Amino acid sequence: MELFFLIKPGEILLKKDNQQEFIRRLRQQIHLRMAGIKHDIESYPGRFFITVDEKDREHTVFALSHCPGLNGFSAAFKCEKTVDSVLAAVVHVATKAAMLGKKTFKVETRRSDKSFPLGSYELSALAGETVLAAVPSLKVDVHNPDFTVNIEIRERAYVYGFPEQGPRGLPTGSSGKGLLLLSGGIDSPVAGYMMAKRGLLLECVYFHAYPYTSDEARKKVERLAVRLTAWTGSLRLWVLPFTDTQLAIKKGAEEGASTLMLRTAMMEAADKIAYRIKAKAIVTGESLGQVASQTAENLAITQSPTRLPVLRPLIGIDKEATVKTAQEIGTYDISILPYEDCCVLFSPKHPLLKPAREKCIEEYKKLELSKLIDESIANASVQRFSYKDVVAEYGLP
Ligand code: ATP
Ligand code: MG
Repeated sequence: MELFFLIKPGEILLKKDNQQEFIRRLRQQIHLRMAGIKHDIESYPGRFFITVDEKDREHTVFALSHCPGLNGFSAAFKCEKTVDSVLAAVVHVATKAAMLGKKTFKVETRRSDKSFPLGSYELSALAGETVLAAVPSLKVDVHNPDFTVNIEIRERAYVYGFPEQGPRGLPTGSSGKGLLLLSGGIDSPVAGYMMAKRGLLLECVYFHAYPYTSDEARKKVERLAVRLTAWTGSLRLWVLPFTDTQLAIKKGAEEGASTLMLRTAMMEAADKIAYRIKAKAIVTGESLGQVASQTAENLAITQSPTRLPVLRPLIGIDKEATVKTAQEIGTYDISILPYEDCCVLFSPKHPLLKPAREKCIEEYKKLELSKLIDESIANASVQRFSYKDVVAEYGLP
């Protein structure tokens, strides 16, 4: 059996000149998530529609609820633009709601086709009366109903009752590409999610210090990348062998500055990759004051190798709120798996909190890490994740 969804795009409707480009992106993003699944997308001003097979309901609901740029969606009846067919669909929706234990309802009508014989208010009133007669267990409550029957009279008529939330934001890719520094922690996946929702197409880089960090640590980052892919549709992960760079820092840098130097080296590597992949921004999970390397003074030093904007969406967010988001987006339970972090192994007992900026940048230059960094990029492994991986990770049908 066919299943039909009405989709409400969000912020892209506010775009004037380049709305078509946003619509094209959004379609492409839905296609990416539905790869390998029979589906048909239609778009009309202000609404998208997707038709799938009933058996693919769960996949489709997952895909749409993880698609930035969508405010919401709902399985819907599409009907002829006649009062009778609309009322029949309304009774269907109401009967189903009553079967699910709902007691009160209201009807809301949006009519953009003004040639329809009834006005919005009249149609809502007639639909309400029809429901009361057909489903006696239901009562009207216009202020706080258990459910709302929605009617839209547009190019066709649509009736739906159970809207689901989309992530809102902008379609992935509509803001260009960004490179996320993805560690195995809680923060960076959340930072990636937040920027993907603002339209950044993400590639990720993970700095791996084998054998100081284990293969399990790397696997954990790969799983985080897959869980992020649920929100981005596709994603590339660069794993950079960073052991030599870390050892060079350990050997050459003043003890208290080693974390700072490592962060700076990560930024230099990120800047070089960003150039190669044409990323327009670097994204990190840094939050002001969270640890010594995230004071304002230290951020100025660690970002010194790049001229790209370093986007830090968590800069003003408390850890508690970040944890909550991580739980909501499905990355938390992976992030808290107990695998060591390379930076902890190399971190100084007494890190510098307010180092002199110019002096530190000079010290960093003296380490002459560029060659090692170039080598690590040349030896990087690059993996591409798609919705196939998401389906396997989440055990979707
Ligand atoms: P997270 O911040 O993801 O929870 P964390 O708290 O262990 O991990 P921090 O020490 O706070 O990491 O590092 C700050 C940021 O630096 C991270 O959010 C991430 O963007 C980046 N980063 C740290 N370590 C790595 C790494 N090994 N590979 C890639 N990026 C890293
Ligand atoms: Mg952190």
